Amino acid sequence: MKRIAIVVGHSVWSKGAYNENLNLHEFYLNDVLAKEIKNALSLNDDFTPYLVYRKNGYAKLPNDINHTSPDIIISVHHNSSANKNVQGTETLYYHKSTNGKDLATLVQNKMLEVLEFRDRGIKAVDSEDRGGYVLRYTNAPMILIEPYFMSDDDGVAKGTKLNTELAMAIREGIEEYLK
Ligand SMILES: [Zn+2]
Repeated sequence: MKRIAIVVGHSVWSKGAYNENLNLHEFYLNDVLAKEIKNALSLNDDFTPYLVYRKNGYAKLPNDINHTSPDIIISVHHNSSANKNVQGTETLYYHKSTNGKDLATLVQNKMLEVLEFRDRGIKAVDSEDRGGYVLRYTNAPMILIEPYFMSDDDGVAKGTKLNTELAMAIREGIEEYLK
């Protein structure tokens, strides 16, 4: 049995990126996709997926995640740019984690197959970079996914429509990683 933590990026108090046209906060998108991922993972009898919310603040998040004893950790975010034409898919991992890199490669490729956005690649980050603090201080292979840019209105329309397929693709990436 593999315990898979699905970390919902941001919180109701600090909602992350914001799309003015759509009056849409990132936390909402992260929460919807995280729940889809949980559903998709629960279809595999070997997986015990569960959601982790940032309820004690960002500083305590790595510890809060570690206390749930995960085997794999997926943090769910959506990208944003001041340039609304920017679009693409990327996945972050901690630069010293080869397991994180392998998991990032497999999940990134699966997400691209479904979304067909530009491949912005997998990105090695250190603890000073965006998302790096949590990637650094967690005890299991972890990735942070950014499936698409929520600053692009058309991207949101397409991305949200594909949420279920995207979640299934992420599950396939995890299954391949565990093989
Ligand atoms: Zn975010």
